[in-house]
Amino acid sequence: MTHPAQPKASHFINGEYVEDTAGTPIPVIYAATGEQIATVYAATPAIVEQALSTAKEAQKAWAKMTGTERGRILRRAADIMRERNHELSVLETYDTGKPLQETLVADATSGADALEYFGGLAGSLTGEHIPMGEDWVYTVREALGLCVGIGAWNYPTQIACWKGAPALACGNSMVFKPSETTPLCALKVAEILHEAGAPAGIYNVIQGMGEVGGALVTDPRVDKVSLTGSVPTGKKVYAAAAEGMKHVTMELGGKSPLIIFDDADIDNAVGGAINGNFYSSGQVCSNGTRVFVQKGIKEKFLARLAERTGNAILGDPMDEATSFGPMVTENQMNIVLGYIEKGKEEGARVVCGGARADMPGYYIQPTVFADVTDDMTIAREEIFGPVMSVLDFDTEEEVIARANDTEFGLSAGVFTNDFSRAHRVIGQLEAGSCFINSYNDAPVEAPFGGVKASGVGRENSKEAIKHFSQVKSVYVRMGDVEAAF
Ligand code: NDP
Repeated sequence: MTHPAQPKASHFINGEYVEDTAGTPIPVIYAATGEQIATVYAATPAIVEQALSTAKEAQKAWAKMTGTERGRILRRAADIMRERNHELSVLETYDTGKPLQETLVADATSGADALEYFGGLAGSLTGEHIPMGEDWVYTVREALGLCVGIGAWNYPTQIACWKGAPALACGNSMVFKPSETTPLCALKVAEILHEAGAPAGIYNVIQGMGEVGGALVTDPRVDKVSLTGSVPTGKKVYAAAAEGMKHVTMELGGKSPLIIFDDADIDNAVGGAINGNFYSSGQVCSNGTRVFVQKGIKEKFLARLAERTGNAILGDPMDEATSFGPMVTENQMNIVLGYIEKGKEEGARVVCGGARADMPGYYIQPTVFADVTDDMTIAREEIFGPVMSVLDFDTEEEVIARANDTEFGLSAGVFTNDFSRAHRVIGQLEAGSCFINSYNDAPVEAPFGGVKASGVGRENSKEAIKHFSQVKSVYVRMGDVEAAF
């Protein structure tokens, strides 16, 4: 019998599901059991062509609609997503292995927020009037054209919406390629947009590995590329986009610092560290994986952290009581276990976890290392799994320098009850998305993105509009034209 997660076909192009079984088969594995639940096929060159040509064509009429009309469609899609939240959350859990307890509140809901927010903004995207004496300049905010979205595997619904909603609001079309690891959810986003009234071809989804992503990025018809992925992939995609002088948004990896001063509320700080390391089993780009704890409270912090981490419920992700799921794939599990071994070898102290969980599926125990030093591999490289490194510090000045000593710059957090210090420290941290007495909130109203190697551009908020549109300026002369001859 066909598994309920099996999509009707691999691709959604020009308003319908499309199949081409000549493409490389991509098995979809449920991370909680290791069983294959679906198969999709990578896009063949014919599929890539169909996706790009229909999106290119559809964009012209879409950009001519009023923003209010486009926005209405996006807001209708948001409503449909909310009505189907349960069904979409189950699919997200099949796609990623993340527990339903999370997916019910963080995925289709976050996607719907983006569709609603950008749907609301679409009608108010205007230019400026700039007086020049008797003359004037007016500006027009125009769509870029055809945009490509390429997603990572940790938030397949959210990424498809975070890229699609602002792109469509501005009058662009989009071809979206999900990660081959999680190909299911973006198809539903395309289907729902179509059902909500988006014209055929405005939002196409095609499957494939890096090769298909590469074909999209290098196509001359494409005007912009928005990637969520790792830094090495980001460098390749950025370079390929530069060849064609395309616009880019790069949402890449991180190794973010979370700084806890000794005057902080310990339970809140522990809560922040848990949210910033163990949500989605640690597979979150903005995680605060270098937890700097001021020496005076170190052991108290570690004791409370170990106690609360012990309350994590590992189990069937479809059981709403489960609060901690598996790694997305066996490969990712092995990568993370490799880092855990490296941490032990390099002398870090295991406070809790430190091994694969003794159950079927790709589960790793939530792991805390203490006595981590700045030079250790686990403190330098992005692990993308449930591995928290706790480092000690003495002074504010010292911790700021150490926190910034990394190629990454996605996020940073500070826990302290001294608000002058909080703002002073945050002001000096090299990161795009920061938190004071909190960690990992990502509302659609706030800009999200990184500095340094963690990215270029911003998603969400009005900032995203700037990255999916361009400004035309028009000088209007009222008098005669003066010329030298
Ligand atoms: P990857 O960088 O491996 O892949 C990202 C996407 O790019 C995938 O769809 C991948 O396809 C595709 N791709 C790979 N090579 C190319 C290429 N040469 N040209 C075009 N596309 C290509 O990332 P992961 O999927 O492993 O995701 C984890 C990473 O994503 C982490 O580093 C994490 O930090 C980052 N991330 C960043 C976020 C942010 O907002 N800053 C949010 C979430 C994750 P395929 O996988 O099918 O081969």
